[in-house]
Amino acid sequence: MFQGYRVRYDDTRGPTKGGIRFHPDVNLDEVQSLAFWMTFKCAALNLPLGGAKGGVTVNPKELSKFELERLSRGYIDAIANFIGPDVDIPAPDVYTNPMIMGWMMDQYSIIYRKLSPAVITGKPLSMGGSQGRDTATGTGAFYVLQAMMTRFGKSPQTTTVAVQGFGNAGSVIARLLFDAGYKVVAVSDSQGGVYAPGGLDIPSIQQFKTSTRSLKAVYCEGTVCNIVQDHAVITNDELLALDVDILIPAALENQITAANADAVKARYVFEVANGPTTSEADDVLAAKGIYVFPDILVNAGGVTVSYFEWVQNRSGLYWSVEDVNDRLKSMMVTEAERIWKIAQDLDIRPRTAAYVHALERLGDALNAKGTRDYYVSGI
Ligand code: GLU
Repeated sequence: MFQGYRVRYDDTRGPTKGGIRFHPDVNLDEVQSLAFWMTFKCAALNLPLGGAKGGVTVNPKELSKFELERLSRGYIDAIANFIGPDVDIPAPDVYTNPMIMGWMMDQYSIIYRKLSPAVITGKPLSMGGSQGRDTATGTGAFYVLQAMMTRFGKSPQTTTVAVQGFGNAGSVIARLLFDAGYKVVAVSDSQGGVYAPGGLDIPSIQQFKTSTRSLKAVYCEGTVCNIVQDHAVITNDELLALDVDILIPAALENQITAANADAVKARYVFEVANGPTTSEADDVLAAKGIYVFPDILVNAGGVTVSYFEWVQNRSGLYWSVEDVNDRLKSMMVTEAERIWKIAQDLDIRPRTAAYVHALERLGDALNAKGTRDYYVSGI
């Protein structure tokens, strides 16, 4: 038996949307916070969706594939009454992936006795998934980073980057930055990280991570270490304190806290994880003059391509990866520029500006709905 949750936080702007996390630390408080963030993320990107999140308190690495499938199908049995293409649409999150989404969509389709691909996004391509969804979070974050760095007049060749987390999002943005000529000097996963002041060879690290499932292999003696030349083994805390231009937390929440925020030396933080900076740490970073570009903008590429997947499932017409990435880029850059302008006009932090932007859209939707909620509840 495992404890599971699904929170639908707000559906003012449309059916609720948000991933499902399989992690030993999942609890109701966390799922609720993540559902809150999804609400603002969808509004910030102008997606016609509300916010939700789900999770199961489990370490999926301890389950066999067969057990994982039974758990995934069991979770859908438990929440089938509360989800649906027009109600609430789950997706992948930490430690869940297209294979799991495929099982979940299949289970929902069995329960409702009709093929329902639009109930879940992030599915395998062969089950109605979208091109570009697997790389969407990292790719969207890369578009935002590029747009903002151009504003700051920073060129890739002179910009150093540290990436915490080498999963779905972190490994993709690390690779795109490497390909664009940025110096990615450090990456880490839950086991620890590697640091090379001259820059790491991200493609070879990606290859070893895929074949061994751990960056640990990179630390070992032999060929891998020859590829990753002159690297030092560092902890996740050391990575956060590196003297780099850009810090990208792309792992879990509560990584930059009151205890370590003062040690952050980066000038720009791009939050690819959800909630990596606590509010106390946010104040410390702001006082140090560090620009923090918030999760609800930076990592919104995942849910944006999820929205594209849902649209494709409902229309039955499937897009090319070029179409997906062109639309993703246009939406990410447009909203990033709008948020940056609000930050400048009101002289506020990018995070506050992102909330101002999202709240305006939520407020408009609430007003447009009229007063029914008030008179029905008798207030
Ligand atoms: N789990 C991702 C997020 O936190 C994606 C959610 C989705 O695609 O619905 O934004």
